[in-house]
Order: sequence, then structure tokens, then C-alpha cells
Amino acid sequence: LAPVPQASRNGNTRPAKESAVLQRDLSYDFALLARGEGNYLVLEDGRKIFDGSGGAAVGCLGWGNQRVAEAVMKQVLAIPYCATVFYTTGVQEELCCYLVESTKGHMGRAYIVNSGSEAMEAAVKLARQYFLELTPSQPQRTRFISRRQSYHGITLGALAVGGHDYRRAKFEPLLMKNATRVSPCNAYRGKNPGETDEDYVARLAKELDDEFQTVGPDTVCAFIAEPVVGAALGCMPAVPGYFKAVAEVCRKYGALLIFDEVMCGMGRTGTLHAWEQEGVAPDIQTIGKALGGGYQPVAGVLASKHVMDVLQKGSSVFVHGHTYQGHPAGCAAALEVQRIILEENLLANVRAMGALLSRRLKERLASHPNVGNIRGRGLFWALEFVANKATAEPFPVEDHVAMEICEKGLSKEYLVNVYPGSGSADGIRGDHIIISPAFNIRSDEVEWL
Ligand code: PLP
Repeated sequence: LAPVPQASRNGNTRPAKESAVLQRDLSYDFALLARGEGNYLVLEDGRKIFDGSGGAAVGCLGWGNQRVAEAVMKQVLAIPYCATVFYTTGVQEELCCYLVESTKGHMGRAYIVNSGSEAMEAAVKLARQYFLELTPSQPQRTRFISRRQSYHGITLGALAVGGHDYRRAKFEPLLMKNATRVSPCNAYRGKNPGETDEDYVARLAKELDDEFQTVGPDTVCAFIAEPVVGAALGCMPAVPGYFKAVAEVCRKYGALLIFDEVMCGMGRTGTLHAWEQEGVAPDIQTIGKALGGGYQPVAGVLASKHVMDVLQKGSSVFVHGHTYQGHPAGCAAALEVQRIILEENLLANVRAMGALLSRRLKERLASHPNVGNIRGRGLFWALEFVANKATAEPFPVEDHVAMEICEKGLSKEYLVNVYPGSGSADGIRGDHIIISPAFNIRSDEVEWL
């Protein structure tokens, strides 16, 4: 079909090709991806782009990994599908066993799904079912508390417990009403002038405590948070002590703590689980992206031993079966990706290369007048751009600054891929980009990036 000229996001006119892909934004001329070679993406037009973000913080081994491809192929030829109501597969058993053991005895079981959104849906239902089994005579625990400027997935349940205003807006009337939100822990914008970390943590913990009181302390199933906030806030770790304090509030009211590690988990921040660096383990945890490194759609939910104890004592199993749960190809990909991470000691590389990346970003960009904040952990870093450094005033939303920077990265001048996110000012205004390369990035590649 003939190219149609359209006004692009930044007002320029560019040719956009007609497409049958429903989600295609015709104001944007999407690049045609031909293949991946290590840490590079190769486009149909020959451009070779350094993948500085692993897509959306998914790629953790780079692209074209022969071992993972062969493991998937072997599994697909052996048996590509497993109806888990009757059968299991060796790869599902082995993967779940590995995931449970990786938590050093904290988690009791794992459940494999196909996307982070599905994992979050399962986590929400697991929390609900836990309380139905725990206190059958008190079925009032139906509420969830999460944080503003959070993202927990795109399906209706996951959107409802999330705090991504832009993605929620059109579907607000369809979202369950028993999910409310408190402030995120945002050291760049959330702290009052002169406030210490301790005082900030105490203020946020009080806000959460107040929310429990407002909605009814014995009506809450769980508090949901990302240990390091990804796309909605831009690689934002919490200030020290925050998670201990909010976990304490959850314990006080008997609510569960759900960590969404879909983006920050499975090694991205330098430990396999991001919560290991907080000294707080969740009751339920979701994982995704770096679990399978993009080689198959695969994600998962981990339930702690005490959650499993209650569920297993109860009268029913977890009522959440779906056609492609525990998909053998996804499990095979995830297992091989995780084996390679262990064999090649890639978590140590994430820590070392992450330290180098953070140093270089700060040396080169901290003094830039439009770089407001540089933050992250492991190989999960964000630059937040501001119109005014002194006041941290964000750019107007219609400027699409992060998107423009990402688009410029793809041009022949730079040939690098980074990932755009919304701003930490209010979740809509302002901009950040995410830099989240593969775990096996080399120091010369970090220098170049
Ligand atoms: N949770 C977090 C923290 C995410 O970053 C995402 C996706 O970006 C999701 C959940 C949803 O995962 P998916 O897009 O695989 O459904």
C-alpha cells in the first residue's frame, strides 16, 4: 500500500506505511526489524543498532543466542504444548524448582504464565484466594493498595491495581473499584526540602497506614509495589528502609505484600531478586522480562511457603488455570537463559558494568542543564529530563522529549536503542529514558553507550 504522509508526534511530516497491525500508530514510521546479532539489532534498511535497553528491559543475553534457540527447538520437537490439567513437563518442573530454590527457602511454589500482566492477574487472585482459605468466615478482604505512578500490566485487573494514569484513563469505568493508591517513594520529587530519608520513610509509612485505616484495616488483601519502579517512574529505587517500613504496616494489618519484579527482577538490578537488596521478602512475587530474555513469552508468579501452606490446607487448588500456562517452550527458554546467567556469572557482570555505567552517566551528563536526575541500580538506569534544572520543572507532555531522544538514537548519527518512559512529576508530564542493556555487556560497550 502506498505510504501516507502523516503528522508525526513532534509535528513533522513523515511517510507512514499502511499496516494491518491493529496497534500501529500511523503517525510513526516504524523501523522494520530483520534480526538480532549479540547486542545489536539489525534493521531491514541495514542500520545496525546497539540495543542499549534490551527492548523494554527484556533482553538479558542479547540476541541470536544459539543455546537458547536450540533448547526451545528441542522442546518444541519433543512436545510443544502441555495440557497442565493432566500432565506436566520436565522443563516446567525444573524451572519452578529452580525459581523456588533461588529464593533460599522463602518461596514455596511457582506458576508459569506468558506475560507480566497475566502474572499480576494471578498474583491478585492468589492473594484473594489466600484470605478465602485463611478466614472463610470473613470474606471481606477484597481490597488492594498500590502506588501512584506504578505500572503492573495492561489487562483490566492489572491496570486496576496499577497507577499509570495515561493507560488507565480510557478504561477507568471498567476497572475494579476496590484498588486504591498511595504515594510512590520518589527521592527526586517526593521528598520535602531538608527532609531526611528516615523522615521521608516515616511519612510514607504513615500515609500507607492511614490508607489502611481509611479503607478498613481488615479489608485489604495486599499492598503491591515494584522494588525498583520501572517504566512508570524510571528505574527508581526506594530510599533505604522504605520497604521494611511498609512491610511492617502490612504485617500490622495482616495484609500480604506483593512485589512486582516483572521489570526489575531476575538479575536486572544485580541480584536475582531485587528484594534481596531490601532485606524484605514478599508473600507473592511476579517475574517476567529477563526470565526468558525475550526468547519466548514467559513470566511467573512465586508464592511464599506460608501462602502455599494456607492454600494447600484449604479446600481448593488455585482457581486460575489457562490454556498456555506452564508452556513447555517458554519454560525451556527460561531454563536455558537462567543456566547461562549462572554459568557465565552474569550477575557479577551486571553489578560491575552497572557501576561503570552509573559512573559514566554521572560524569558525562549530571551537569547537563536538561538532565534533572540520574538513578538506577544494576543495569537498570534512567535519565530524567527537565526544562529547568533548578526547579525540576518537567517538559510539557506534548514535546515528547523522551520519545524524541529515543527516535534520535535510532538515527544514523547515533545508532543506539534506549527506552522511553513517562515522567516522575505526575506520571504524565516530564520524561525519562531507560538504559537497560544485556547482562553480558562489555566495558568497551558501556563506554560507547
Ligand atoms: N509489571 C511491570 C513492573 C512491568 O514493567 C510490566 C511491563 O512492562 C508489566 C507488569 C506487564 O508485563 P507484560 O507487558 O509482559 O504484560
